Amino acid sequence: MEKVNNIFGSMVFNDAVMRERLPKATYKALKDSIETGADLTTDVANVIAAEMKNWALEKGATHFAHWFQPLTGTTAEKHDAFISPNGDGTVIMDFSGKELIKGEPDGSSFPSGGIRATFEARGYTNWDPTSYAFIKEKTLCIPTAFCSYNGEALDEKTPLLRSMDTINKQALRVLKLFGMDDVKKVITSVGPEQEYFLIDKEVYERRPDLVYCGRTLFGSKPPKRQELNDHYFGAIKPRVKEFMEDLNRELWKVGILSKTEHNEVAPAQHEMAPIYTETNVALDHNQLTMEILKKVAEKHGMTCLLHEKPFAGVNGSGKHTNWSISTDTGINFLTPGKEPENNKLFLLMLAAIVQAVDDYQDLLRVSVASAGNDHRLGGHEAPPAIISMFIGEELENVVESIVSGTKLKKHSSPTIQSNAAVLPSFQRDNTDRNRTSPFAFSENKFEFRMTGSEMSIGDVCFVLNTIVAESLEQYADELEKADDFDTALDALIKRVFTQHQRIIFNGDNYTDEWVTEAERRGLLNLSSTVEAAQYLAARKNLDLFEHHGIFTEVESLARYRIKLDEYSKIINIEALTMIDMARRSIAPAVSAYCNDLADAALSKKELGISVKAETDVLSKISDLAGVLNDKIEALESAVLKADEFTNSEQANYFHDSVIPAMNELRLVADELETMTAEEYWPFPSYGEMLFSVK
Ligand code: ADP
Ligand code: MG
Repeated sequence: MEKVNNIFGSMVFNDAVMRERLPKATYKALKDSIETGADLTTDVANVIAAEMKNWALEKGATHFAHWFQPLTGTTAEKHDAFISPNGDGTVIMDFSGKELIKGEPDGSSFPSGGIRATFEARGYTNWDPTSYAFIKEKTLCIPTAFCSYNGEALDEKTPLLRSMDTINKQALRVLKLFGMDDVKKVITSVGPEQEYFLIDKEVYERRPDLVYCGRTLFGSKPPKRQELNDHYFGAIKPRVKEFMEDLNRELWKVGILSKTEHNEVAPAQHEMAPIYTETNVALDHNQLTMEILKKVAEKHGMTCLLHEKPFAGVNGSGKHTNWSISTDTGINFLTPGKEPENNKLFLLMLAAIVQAVDDYQDLLRVSVASAGNDHRLGGHEAPPAIISMFIGEELENVVESIVSGTKLKKHSSPTIQSNAAVLPSFQRDNTDRNRTSPFAFSENKFEFRMTGSEMSIGDVCFVLNTIVAESLEQYADELEKADDFDTALDALIKRVFTQHQRIIFNGDNYTDEWVTEAERRGLLNLSSTVEAAQYLAARKNLDLFEHHGIFTEVESLARYRIKLDEYSKIINIEALTMIDMARRSIAPAVSAYCNDLADAALSKKELGISVKAETDVLSKISDLAGVLNDKIEALESAVLKADEFTNSEQANYFHDSVIPAMNELRLVADELETMTAEEYWPFPSYGEMLFSVK
């Protein structure tokens, strides 16, 4: 097998390749343009494009594509061959600077939230030179942003890049006050831990609900789920191991720093975590990871399920988004050091985050709101829908002493003695983990645990960047005017912690007591997407995004409409799939079983044998089959009525009326599954799916 360092990045037009292949002046011009944001000249762009093309051709590519992330949650690409006619019936392979920098896909089929009518088809893709081009399936993919004809952002990338600018700008102002003039740039980094399920492809294909909706809409609980906790970190099965090896190779080729892999809590559930990178690259890489996960699984005869809750009653999948903020000189602001109480820069950054999370709980919540994630948040394996922060005992003591003005209770990290001679003793970490907190501090980063497995991390990241930038801007405004910086700084830190302490909660977030306590503290508890979405249209949030140059009001409101529209569409598809499965497969299967039971009873009766077993079961199942029919009809009329509403009213209607009708239908069908002989049941059971990969 090839060595990892030979494979790694072999399909990436990265910095090393550019330095080696581009003329010195071109390379420098590109670097300058990335640093200053100045446009590249046509000449420079042409040279870069030509060299990119030569490199891609050497690697066997035939096409190029502007690769972008429309508001569908996935990626899009339009392939063009490099060919250009010579005029004599032959072609040359060509790629110009213009083609590198700007693309013009027909954007009319991507969500725009009413920003433009279908006939206004033009959309533009624009090269993001800070994310390297790469080759995927013989196509040179160029990471780009995507906007409308009038320049409105219609993708995940644009607001994220804008948010990186604003947090950089505001953090630099603060650093100046601390005398850190050598810092040129402040960056945010993210490491997303991706959870997923793997099931056998053949089993998957026999479940229309998985095929159409990505999750099971029916299915009674198997005798064994995850209660023994024997899957978590368990030995990886050989077939999965082979898949992971292949997956890593494919990820490494495109420069993704895939690092950690293990089994997760639920049977058939796994996780992949890369080493963290700058936020926009992390976004691109995570989108690519999801695509590669699916493709590699397919090659191994399996299907990778990325849905947040593929199986009811079994842990769902999240994508913990680990976030930190640091300088180009290598200082991570979230490193508390040995004496966090005296580390003023750290305390100010912590205050900025505490304030941001408290002031914009709504935006954080809505950044992870989707029909799929609604099944997960508030369940017993994921954080609740209430946003709070865990900062650990040591830091909580620090905050407490600042707020109350009392002496700091010094926290000690004892040495753990193993009491076995061969095991070395070791220092305990300062903070334990809190697996129930939605936003948990650990070591030198925050882990936002509400992100759903299938969603783009774009929303979460630009919201985090923007809300922290907002705190920092307020602090810079205040401190720049102060006569005495140190006194003003202490006063500010104390004030912010005092005002926002309510968002800090180190206890168990899964309990009912916390729900009551959070309500007492006045924290939001937005239990569904429809409840959360309205905050996208709230004045304070429209103003925030406008102020930081993330979105105009038009762009914000478009996203609000898209969020609700997508929600309605998903529930609609799920409801129709349920009706179809129940009416055309489940009801006939139950009926066939009933017929055979009745036949068996008749034959036995002729022989004078007791038919109690058959008739008991038969009458129970027949009654339930009748109820099943009623529930199918009820769901069907509920779905039909949805057409009478639009946008937010429609989403509310789906939430309030269609989902309950779906739940009722499922309840009956699942009970029928437990009573119908296995050979009659038309779909693979939960047991078959969850334990399908041997
Ligand atoms: P866990 O034990 O929480 O599951 P993992 O090792 O699976 O931890 O994932 C931790 C993730 O956090 C990795 O993607 C890692 O790169 C990322 N991470 C570590 N330090 C930082 C940091 N300073 N900033 C952002 N992400 C970080
Ligand atoms: Mg992990």
